[in-house]
Amino acid sequence: STTVQFTGETRVLTVSNQKGGVGKTTTAVNIGSALAALGAKVLVIDLDPQGNASTALGVPHSAEVPSVYDVLIDEMPLADVVQPSPENPNLFCAPSTIHLAGAEIELVAQVAREHRLRRALDVYLADHPMDFVIIDCPPSLGLLTINAFTAASEVFIPIQCEYYALEGLSQLLGSIQMIQKHLNPPLHLSTILLTMFDGRTRLAQQVAEEVRTHFPEQVLETVIPRSVRVSEAPSFGQTVIAYDGQSAGAIAYREAAVEIASRTATQSKEK
Ligand code: ADP
Ligand code: MG
Repeated sequence: STTVQFTGETRVLTVSNQKGGVGKTTTAVNIGSALAALGAKVLVIDLDPQGNASTALGVPHSAEVPSVYDVLIDEMPLADVVQPSPENPNLFCAPSTIHLAGAEIELVAQVAREHRLRRALDVYLADHPMDFVIIDCPPSLGLLTINAFTAASEVFIPIQCEYYALEGLSQLLGSIQMIQKHLNPPLHLSTILLTMFDGRTRLAQQVAEEVRTHFPEQVLETVIPRSVRVSEAPSFGQTVIAYDGQSAGAIAYREAAVEIASRTATQSKEK
């Protein structure tokens, strides 16, 4: 088995892509679980009102549960909403509830509306050291995603290898640049993961080649294959790492996590 040394420095990655259904949530929870299995302490922050990350991590997130909504809107401490995932003692989740759907609008009127997650996270990390914080974003570039971009230093983009994969990517890169310039200078694209890969199609191979040509430093060697086990796992309140650790999807996500962990925070800053 692989051992990875963790430095004690917290790496905050935001999993973003304004397209829905490209594997953001699946990637956030499975990389989170795989990193925890490597011995890292990991907090997954669910910023999508759909709450799919909370579901996959086995964490309750019905309407009355304290959630990221309360943190962003009512300044509730993050420590009061974070729950352990039953999957791994190193794995934690700040759940989302349906209330978060209104936060996009409510945040507009708030003081320091772009920095609310960052502030809450700084306070939390002072007492709860983590090796990784992974933020699962909604499929939009609104204030929730801006809060994620302001709290993180690394952007992690999952890309589905299909015809329109690169379309929209320049808009996302533009947003990252804008945040870097005006709100959060350390923010940079550190990691790209090719997901739901079907190597039998020529198109998937072409898209993969094109992405690797554009982003040679950022694209992980590992690709995540399309696998039924990956899509079944959330309905059991589990990641595929826990649901079927020997499946092709689980193996690939564990390999991707090793790649991410072995790039040090410093290395990924240089990119
Ligand atoms: P996003 O968060 O970007 O909207 P999801 O992670 O929710 O995307 O994935 C969209 C759908 O694709 C979900 O139903 C999910 O279970 C499925 N899915 C994600 N990755 C894979 C995979 N590697 N193989 C098969 N299905 C997948
Ligand atoms: Mg999602």
